[in-house]
Amino acid sequence: MTNTEAHPAGSKSAGAPPGADGPLAVEVLTARQVPLGGPRAMPVRRTLPQRTRTLIGAWCFADHYGPDDVSLTGGMDVAPHPHTGLQTVSWLFSGEIEHRDSLGSHAFVRPGELNLMTGGHGISHSEVSTPRTTVLHGVQLWVALPDEHRHTERDFQHYVPAPVPLDGGTARVFLGALAGDTSPVRTFTPLLGAELSVDPHATVTLDVDPDFEHGVLVDTGDVRLDGTVLKPTELGCTAPGRDTLTLANEGPQAARVVLLGGPPFGEEIVMWWNFIGRSHDDIVRARDDWTKGTRFGEVHGYDGAPLPAPELPNAPLKPRGRMRRTAETGA
Ligand code: MN
Repeated sequence: MTNTEAHPAGSKSAGAPPGADGPLAVEVLTARQVPLGGPRAMPVRRTLPQRTRTLIGAWCFADHYGPDDVSLTGGMDVAPHPHTGLQTVSWLFSGEIEHRDSLGSHAFVRPGELNLMTGGHGISHSEVSTPRTTVLHGVQLWVALPDEHRHTERDFQHYVPAPVPLDGGTARVFLGALAGDTSPVRTFTPLLGAELSVDPHATVTLDVDPDFEHGVLVDTGDVRLDGTVLKPTELGCTAPGRDTLTLANEGPQAARVVLLGGPPFGEEIVMWWNFIGRSHDDIVRARDDWTKGTRFGEVHGYDGAPLPAPELPNAPLKPRGRMRRTAETGA
C-alpha cells in the first residue's frame, strides 16, 4: 500500500480530551478518508498516524478498507512503490491481493493469512486485487523499525495462524502472543497483532502485557472497551499499565476487531510518503534513490509504470514522537 497524503500529520482527530490520560482511559481515534495510490484511487479509512498520536507500540500506520464491491470501486491497483525503515502487514477479511516485490516474492494475500514485508533499507512492491475478488475488505498496517534494524535486509514472510477459541469469541494471533497462542513470525520490537471475533452479546477478557499500549480497531459491530463504546472504523487506544483488556459486544451479531499492541516506541521518527527515517535528510536520500532507480530494486510482472514520488514540502520534515499531548500548529 502507498501513502498518498502530502501532509499526514495535518489532519484532525477526535483524540482524548485533555486530562484523559490515566492508565484506564480510552483514547478514541476516528478515521479519515484517504484516496489510495493508483489510477482509480480506492478510498481507505486511516486511523494512524494522527495529529495526536503517531504510534501504538511500533505500529505507525493503519489503513482500513471495505467491504467494497470491486465492480463499483475498481478494487486495488497500486503500482510499484518503495518502502524504507518499516514493515508492512496485509490482513484481509475478504478478497484476494496479488503481491509482487523486489525481493522476487510473488504471493497472494488471502483472508486470515499474514503477509509481512520487511522494507529494511529498501524494497519496492505492487499490490493488485485479483479478478477472483468480488468484495475487498481488510487492513494494511505498518510497523516502524527501530534505529538499529531499520537498514536490515528486505524480507517477506507468510503465516497462517490457527483460530484460537476464547471464552466469548475467537482470536487469530498473527504477531506476538495472546490467549495462549504465539506467532512464530519475527519482529524487531515486541509487538501484538490479532484479529478478534466477539460473539453476539458476549464479553471477552484478555490477559495482556502491562508494558504494552494497545489499539482496538473496530471493523464490525459496536464494541465496548471498558466504559467506552467504539463504533466501526474507530481505533480505541489504551496506555500501558493494564493486565487485561475487556471487550463487550452488546449487539446481536458477531463483532470483529483488530487488536494492536506493543511497548511505547522510544524513538522519534520522520514519516513521509512511504518512507520512515530519523531526519529530513534520510527522507531526501530515500526519495532521490527512488527517483534515480537505485536502492529499492525492481518489481517484475506488474503491468504499468512505478509510482513517482511526490514533491517534498518546502519546510523541513520534523521528527515526531508517539504522542502529542499539547496543541501544536504546523506539521
Ligand atoms: Mn506499500
